[in-house]
Amino acid sequence: MKGLNNRKATISLSILTFFAIFLSAVPPIVSARGFSINLGSYILGAAQMSGVATNIRLILLVVIVLVGKKLGMIISSLIVILSSIPAIPQMIFTGNYDSLPGIAGSVCAVVILYILYDFIKNINIYNKMLHMLSQQDPLTGMHNLTAVRDDIDKRIKAGEEFYVSFLYIENFGAINDMMGRDFGNTVLKTIAGRLIGNTVEGEYGGKNGDSEFVLVIDASGEKKDPVVERNEVEARFKQFMKQFKRPLIIDNTEITLEPRAAVVRYPDDGSNINELYRHLDDTIAHYRNVSNMDFAFYDASITNELTENSKIEDRLFRALSTDELRLVFQPQFDLKTGKLRGFETLSRLNDQDGKPIRPDKFIAVAEKSNLIYRIDNWVLLHAITTFRDAVKENPELIVSINISANHFQKPGYADYVLRTLKENDFPNENLEIEITETVFAAAIDIVKEALDKLRDNKVKVALDDFGTGYASLSYLSQLPVNLLKIDKTFIDKMNNSDMDNDFIKLIISMGHVLHTEVLAEGVEDEAEKVALQEWGCDMVQGYLTGKPMDFENALEVIKNNKGSV
Ligand code: C2E
Ligand code: MG
Ligand code: MG
Repeated sequence: MKGLNNRKATISLSILTFFAIFLSAVPPIVSARGFSINLGSYILGAAQMSGVATNIRLILLVVIVLVGKKLGMIISSLIVILSSIPAIPQMIFTGNYDSLPGIAGSVCAVVILYILYDFIKNINIYNKMLHMLSQQDPLTGMHNLTAVRDDIDKRIKAGEEFYVSFLYIENFGAINDMMGRDFGNTVLKTIAGRLIGNTVEGEYGGKNGDSEFVLVIDASGEKKDPVVERNEVEARFKQFMKQFKRPLIIDNTEITLEPRAAVVRYPDDGSNINELYRHLDDTIAHYRNVSNMDFAFYDASITNELTENSKIEDRLFRALSTDELRLVFQPQFDLKTGKLRGFETLSRLNDQDGKPIRPDKFIAVAEKSNLIYRIDNWVLLHAITTFRDAVKENPELIVSINISANHFQKPGYADYVLRTLKENDFPNENLEIEITETVFAAAIDIVKEALDKLRDNKVKVALDDFGTGYASLSYLSQLPVNLLKIDKTFIDKMNNSDMDNDFIKLIISMGHVLHTEVLAEGVEDEAEKVALQEWGCDMVQGYLTGKPMDFENALEVIKNNKGSV
């Protein structure tokens, strides 16, 4: 492109120069020959013709400077000077000073042409400075968003192959909030230094946003096996990650950064910059909640999953307002007496074609999008209003609902539950709230306060999927839990080995030491039930004793167990 522009400029400059020289020759020739043109009533004399030629030449000289910059200035000055030189000896030897105004005009013309050139030169310098500023991140001095995009665009146009990566610091927000903006800026400058300081030929680093960096790695050199190439890029990223993870000491405070990187390859993962960037964002969104995942290549399945998730999210959003979310209830039985204890409430949702969406799938989507708060509240309200009359008739019947761990970090959540129970005339002691061990990853004080309040008001608390998460014994002993629900995965492994069985026995006795009852989830066959009974497990819930069912069938189960609850 640049070459083409230069060629065009050279051709234009040559043509303009030719005409300017030609016009320089007009005044002496027409004056010497006394040319005139008869235009009917008007005669165009030699003087007028010379004037017209000189003025047109001046315009051409200006254009030559504009097109040719420095070279143009030299050419046009030479044309003016050389065309004036013959007049000087003529003036000296003949003593005829008629040419003097012409020579003075030429000197003025050269000065004007120089001023014009100087002006253009300065404008160019300002333009370059402006361009540089528009391409530079003011904080770190790195290439900014526009510069990086320009670079990638150029590579795409040149048909190059390359990797692009977004690099960011997962804990940057927290550092910035805790230590202040100045500290945060120093962190960003240090990362920029580490990024730029470690790039080698064929790598291009820049800053993409407030705290996001970009790294482009050239892949258009010698053709390599895709797996080999990918491994090399991965190794390169590991080196960058290692650099970023080096502890940082700012103002006597040592911090450790948690860098993350998502990587795409052009042209494999996108045909233009917007597609590449979208897929980088998808990769980041996909791995955001996966701990220890500091580096990931894009994969088309990520976008498919995000698209599917966003469909589920839309579906959930609609279902909440149209009451298309449905509840089913799975019975729980006392293993010692065989009596019905109550029901766990489980949600059901179909997709637009009427096919069921797996609950753990739509619950996970809801948890990511915060729709889970609305779902939990919806389930609470519908479960208690559905069972209100049944619990009045069966005062010991327990209705349990699953509540997302995040909900307990919201101030006032316990009050909300208690208020809802009161407003809907549902006895507190008939409600059980199931939380999972992920609750322990949250601020435990807030969770404990909420659970204590619920327990003080007779609402029961169960710890669901026990054994799969992070419950520590010390936390467990502090929290007001009534029931431990042993996760189905442990029940599935029953009788596989002595160790698996011992583990279940251990949970049962641990529950009893902590004064909680223990329920086994997902019990599917009689032998499992008998063994659990033998080991002192208190309750059972599973396909063996009853699959999740609609309310009419739940009422049947209650009727058949009449007197037992
Ligand atoms: P969960 O709370 O542990 O629920 C028990 C799951 O095990 C249910 O799956 C139930 O249908 C299944 N199950 C029970 N017995 C058996 C069995 O014998 N064999 C087999 N194969 N499965 C059995 P479901 O309904 O698919 O729910 C999955 C998870 O989704 C639930 O696990 C719960 O964590 C979550 N979930 C379901 N509904 C809700 C809800 O309304 N709110 C919230 N926050 N989470 C919910
Ligand atoms: Mg549950
Ligand atoms: Mg469970």
